[in-house]
Amino acid sequence: MSTVVEEIAEALQKCNKCGLCLAGCPVYKATGVEWTSARGRIALLRSALLDHRLELDALDDPIFNCLTCNGCTEHCPPAVPTGEIIFKAREEMLKRQGDSWLGRLVFHKLLASPSQLHQASKLLRLAEVTGLRPLARKTGLTRLFGDAGKAEAIVPKIPPSQGLEAVKRLAGKINNPKYKVAYFTGCHAPNLAPKVAAATVRILHRHQAEVTVPDFVCCGLPAAGYGDGPSARSLARRNIEIAASLSVDAIVTACASCSSFLKDYAKLLENDPEWSERARDFAAKVKDLSEILTDIGLVTEMGTIKKKVTYHDPCHLAHHQKIKEPPRTILRSIPGVEFIELPEADVCCGAAGSYAFKNYDISMQVLKRKMGNVEKTGADILVSCCPACVMQLACGVRQEKLPVRVTEMVELLDEAYRKAKEG
Ligand code: SF4
Ligand code: SF4
Repeated sequence: MSTVVEEIAEALQKCNKCGLCLAGCPVYKATGVEWTSARGRIALLRSALLDHRLELDALDDPIFNCLTCNGCTEHCPPAVPTGEIIFKAREEMLKRQGDSWLGRLVFHKLLASPSQLHQASKLLRLAEVTGLRPLARKTGLTRLFGDAGKAEAIVPKIPPSQGLEAVKRLAGKINNPKYKVAYFTGCHAPNLAPKVAAATVRILHRHQAEVTVPDFVCCGLPAAGYGDGPSARSLARRNIEIAASLSVDAIVTACASCSSFLKDYAKLLENDPEWSERARDFAAKVKDLSEILTDIGLVTEMGTIKKKVTYHDPCHLAHHQKIKEPPRTILRSIPGVEFIELPEADVCCGAAGSYAFKNYDISMQVLKRKMGNVEKTGADILVSCCPACVMQLACGVRQEKLPVRVTEMVELLDEAYRKAKEG
């Protein structure tokens, strides 16, 4: 048995085939097909990895069309960690099949270097401003790339950005700080959503937190999700090393996927004697922004935003970190906000990182159900705390032509603080 299979053998055997997970699986709800549920996927993986009655190579779809949302685990009496099992199954598959040049480029080079990642985002922006991207869409060129080409429509317009350096300049020093935090921007905010990065820094300053912006690399979640466990572990070690030179109370991120995976470093490196303790210490310092703001006491001096607001729970916040109340508390604290609970708020929106790039149709079916629920609320603003969710939800709103603004929680909160200052 390989190490990867040894690591999940026990978890695979915990499934008692009760089927209660079917109620929590967005993919099963979209397809109605047993093998897309946790029970079905686990049965197939047991046959391939433990009983050797199936070839693992034959299970590409069951392994890759799982959202790893852990919606099933919420309904599962023995709490089978299906998302974790699927990540490991992908790692085993990649180990047997070998990596592609694209995988090596993305996970070994781009995500391991903030400056190279920024250069790549500038190329995307260039394609935007030269009209290349709109032209490719208009002429149907993107369709030639299958699911990946169709999913290109989810990616919003690339704004001008100066990358991590601009965020560092904003952070600066503040008078009489009560806390010292390191801001883990993630790959998305500095390059694709500079307004989110700026809003996060301003909010932390508003809470008397001095902000440092280290040259952290990608958290490793995209690599782990692709099945490249070695790259994910290597990125984790780099981040732990960088954090070792900092003297901060917390490592804060406004991206639910990043905070979830950074907290998972303890598990990711638990079998590495040289790094396990350092990984535990690092993980203990990680805080999602919504979590730290409610922990230290949210500053409630805000301007009014008179809107109906609803909230979608990112799976990495609600299921992986069990953080559900803090974002709701924050949104309810904004004067004028009428908070409306979204039906099935904690059911995945179909984003799951780059899921749509391989499983476009299922992703859109899952999204359509989410949009139906958003429409029922009659909300003016739909909020979430994860860039992948926000991009996916914004795409859904465009497709369904709903009169709804989609935004990150930090942007709305920052708006409320800025209105207080103006007022
Ligand atoms: S992790 Fe999500 S998509 Fe995968 S089986 Fe569980 S509920 Fe379904
Ligand atoms: S709920 Fe859990 S134990 Fe029951 S079938 Fe699903 S994964 Fe297996």
